[in-house]
Amino acid sequence: MFKIFARDLTRWYQKHHRDLPWRATRDPYHIWTSEIMLQQTTVNAVIPYYEHWLKTFPTVFDLARADIHDVLKAWQGLGYYARAKNFHKAAGLVVDDHGGKLPADPVLVRSLPGFGPYTTGSVLSIAYDARLTIIDANVRRVVMRLLALPGEADIQQDKKVSAFLEKVLPRKGVGDFNQALMELGALVCRSKEPLCLLCPVRSYCSAYAKDKQETIPKPKQKIIKDIDAVIAVIRHKGKFFIQKRPSKGLLADLWEFPGGKVEKGESAREALGREMQEELGVKIVSASHLFDVRHFYTTFRVKLSVWSVETAPLPKTDKTHRWASSRDLTRYPMPSGTVKVIEKLV
Ligand code: SF4
Repeated sequence: MFKIFARDLTRWYQKHHRDLPWRATRDPYHIWTSEIMLQQTTVNAVIPYYEHWLKTFPTVFDLARADIHDVLKAWQGLGYYARAKNFHKAAGLVVDDHGGKLPADPVLVRSLPGFGPYTTGSVLSIAYDARLTIIDANVRRVVMRLLALPGEADIQQDKKVSAFLEKVLPRKGVGDFNQALMELGALVCRSKEPLCLLCPVRSYCSAYAKDKQETIPKPKQKIIKDIDAVIAVIRHKGKFFIQKRPSKGLLADLWEFPGGKVEKGESAREALGREMQEELGVKIVSASHLFDVRHFYTTFRVKLSVWSVETAPLPKTDKTHRWASSRDLTRYPMPSGTVKVIEKLV
């Protein structure tokens, strides 16, 4: 039964899969690029980034040699910037320790920055047909339905999901099989309204047999936080004052305008004054509200209140604080919220 399951699923994949740029290659670096980008990001959003990335850094040697500033700039807008930093570091190690070829040994690959079990399995199975299972959100949902597992789709399920995958994983064509499971989750066994009548593995599916495909897995409660923040646009001689975020934490090493969160009980104007004092050691001479920008992250929404600000004295420059002309602004890697502010400003 397991062999036939894998065969049915793989045949469906070979006939119905989407033509995506990274599916036309077995080049490990190209596959690696796509798999890192696809973590937490949709296929449609990734396509232009993937193509631009391979033009900017055509080989792992180009990526390893590149300045991290240029790497983050090429990544700008994809979010989760630690992925880009780890990719850059891992490229350096692949060049230094493995002659520029991603090793096929999963133990060696797991030791590289940015390679967890999922990325190791997906890259090595697709590039080298390594016999490794993978579990992502799509695969977890599909298998939970196939087995009619109760509960939410979280990592608590992965022991059972993994045991099933070990049984059905074929000896050859592992990359296609793994991609088939993910593709089935993306196109047919969708989280809402699964298209069971089009499903190539319907006859193996316990959720379908019990008419529970709409209720498995149990829906998760999403907690979305609302955050209010202020941003100071300080201009001097036609230039804008920008600063680099710390190297650790959210949006690390990206550049932005000064500002920060509005604390409880504070007005936007008060927050602006406090942030200028705390971050830059300057006082506000005048401040006028320009506009608001809204931006959505995975678990929070932020409203950026943007102000034109004059300070006394002018903020000091150093390695992480600079004046930039409007043309230069576009050369700095920045969070998407800041990019939206710049688009409105200039
Ligand atoms: Fe998913 Fe429906 Fe196929 Fe079952 S039959 S795997 S629920 S699409």
